[in-house]
Amino acid sequence: MENFVAEIHDLFKTCSCGNHHNDIPIETIMAENGALNKVASFLAEKSFGSPKIVADSNTMTAAGDKLTELLNSAGLAVTSCEVTPDENGDVVADEKALVQVLLETGRNSDCMIAVGSGTIHDITRFCSATLNIPFISIPTAPSVDGFTSLGAPLIVRGVKKTFQMTSPIAVFADIDVLKKAPKEMIAAGVGDMIAKYTSLADWKFERYAADVPYCELSAELTQLALDECVANIEKIAKAEDEGITILIESLIKSGIAMLVFGQSHPASGGEHHLSHYWEMDLLKNNRPQVLHGAKVGVTTILLSSIYKSEFLNELDNILENGEIQEKHGKVLANLRENKDKVKEILEAIPDPESTKRLIENLGGPVLPNELGISDSLVHDSLKHAHHLRDRYTVLKFLNVVLQTEYDFAAKA
Ligand SMILES: [Zn+2]
Ligand SMILES: [Zn+2]
Repeated sequence: MENFVAEIHDLFKTCSCGNHHNDIPIETIMAENGALNKVASFLAEKSFGSPKIVADSNTMTAAGDKLTELLNSAGLAVTSCEVTPDENGDVVADEKALVQVLLETGRNSDCMIAVGSGTIHDITRFCSATLNIPFISIPTAPSVDGFTSLGAPLIVRGVKKTFQMTSPIAVFADIDVLKKAPKEMIAAGVGDMIAKYTSLADWKFERYAADVPYCELSAELTQLALDECVANIEKIAKAEDEGITILIESLIKSGIAMLVFGQSHPASGGEHHLSHYWEMDLLKNNRPQVLHGAKVGVTTILLSSIYKSEFLNELDNILENGEIQEKHGKVLANLRENKDKVKEILEAIPDPESTKRLIENLGGPVLPNELGISDSLVHDSLKHAHHLRDRYTVLKFLNVVLQTEYDFAAKA
């Protein structure tokens, strides 16, 4: 991935979408065996002498201890902060974890190193932005696409909200570490990638329904990353070097699409809102957390089916329905004007059964009850999750526009 950032940077210079695009402040992205050994020389080059490693007990064992040793022997004054889990044993990016890391990092560190999966990165991203020191990303599992993005989804007073903070200045993805990640985390990474089927559909739909900012290049970059991941699913399932490299690179690319666009639109749609709703419910009821990618894999399958059966099949009737036109004239007019494109968007979502098989190949969950999510929570989330974000997804359309005419959630 050495030239990737420069290539993307040049590519987006030619983008004519009219939206502002962020520069990519990531100086190095390494996805290779032994990448951990390259961190010390990068820090020395940047004149960082007092890095703070942020990890949890698992990721400390997976890579944090070895990195500490490497940095110590390079003469760096490295210290670490092991984030304390909650009473269920989960590390959660909430007020408690954020304050712990802020206090333990203090003013004596000149950079932070996130050693872990998504949550450790979210916590570090927030603390790095707050303390105004850069951070370096060391993923320990190919489980989410958030490593390289700006957004930190944080739980504040029980509500999950994404804050646009800062991206890492370097990523060292050590394939030797990543391929030892638990199988369910690899399946979760694929889940977060296949979520792009519905997130891209939602973003493209929104563009026509509500005229939201849209960038073809960011969408294409995300789609390419998704296609690469899906085309190599057998290799990924084997968890050997090549497959794991492809998966982490796909996740990194998806994160960069969000980073350049400055918002999560390419990578997060209704399927993520459902997942956030479930996560908040688990927290509220003091139940153990479920991997982000496992949840969005399941919600993508669920929404694929609803988007195709409840929406695509009914689209003509909906657009011609006089009662709906009366109440939601503007949205309906926009959609009627772009009916063929809207159809294309929905048709492009793969059949949910084939998406199911992808996840099953990896031994991942495909149904809500495999995650301990009850039918009533599924029903509630389909009705209410769209309130969590100000986005005009198909999920929102189905609720706001069709609420009385079609009780779609009841059929899910
Ligand atoms: Zn995600
Ligand atoms: Zn653009």
